[in-house]
Amino acid sequence: MSVLPKSVENVINEFSKLPGIGPKSASRMAYHFLRSPNKDATQLGKSLIEMDEKTKFCSLCFNVTDQEICDICSNQQRDSTQICIVEEPLDVVAFENSGIYNGLYFVLGGVISPADGISASELRFGELEKRVNDLVKEVNKKIEIIVATNPSLEGEATASYIQDIFNNLYKEGKIQITRLAMGLPTGADLEYADRLTLKRALEGRRDI
Ligand SMILES: [Zn+2]
Repeated sequence: MSVLPKSVENVINEFSKLPGIGPKSASRMAYHFLRSPNKDATQLGKSLIEMDEKTKFCSLCFNVTDQEICDICSNQQRDSTQICIVEEPLDVVAFENSGIYNGLYFVLGGVISPADGISASELRFGELEKRVNDLVKEVNKKIEIIVATNPSLEGEATASYIQDIFNNLYKEGKIQITRLAMGLPTGADLEYADRLTLKRALEGRRDI
């Protein structure tokens, strides 16, 4: 027989699935909500359900949005000759908060990581190819693909993979592929980079 009611155990179990949260922290969080007099748990539950129901991925860049096409992709003022490829939606937030970039984005959904069992087929490379090909046709100018995966082993491997995919377009002179400068320390997480570091990394980007 368990000491805790099943309902509390379920909550601890769910919290333990969160990134960086072990069983101890998960228990502490559950007790925090148990003690809270303000119906915080109900509010959290409602917010999570609302997020789940209302958000989806933009059909062009796969950033999180509550519309079919996100505000960035539908903004005519954005420079559609630049497309910045990032791992996660939070990387888009980092670039947008820094105010240093006015092009488009594409969210891959992760990086190739054999150690974590993530192969190329699980990421959005097919969608990326289609998006870039459509842009090349639409814009009728040379497109710059900025590879902004994190400066980790996996991020580098993913950058090479992207380079391979677009080799033909590159040879045809239709695109230029650049990589963020290594002002970012190896192993750094782009989403936590400060504005200046991100600005330097973007300004110092080089052809790959
Ligand atoms: Zn979008």
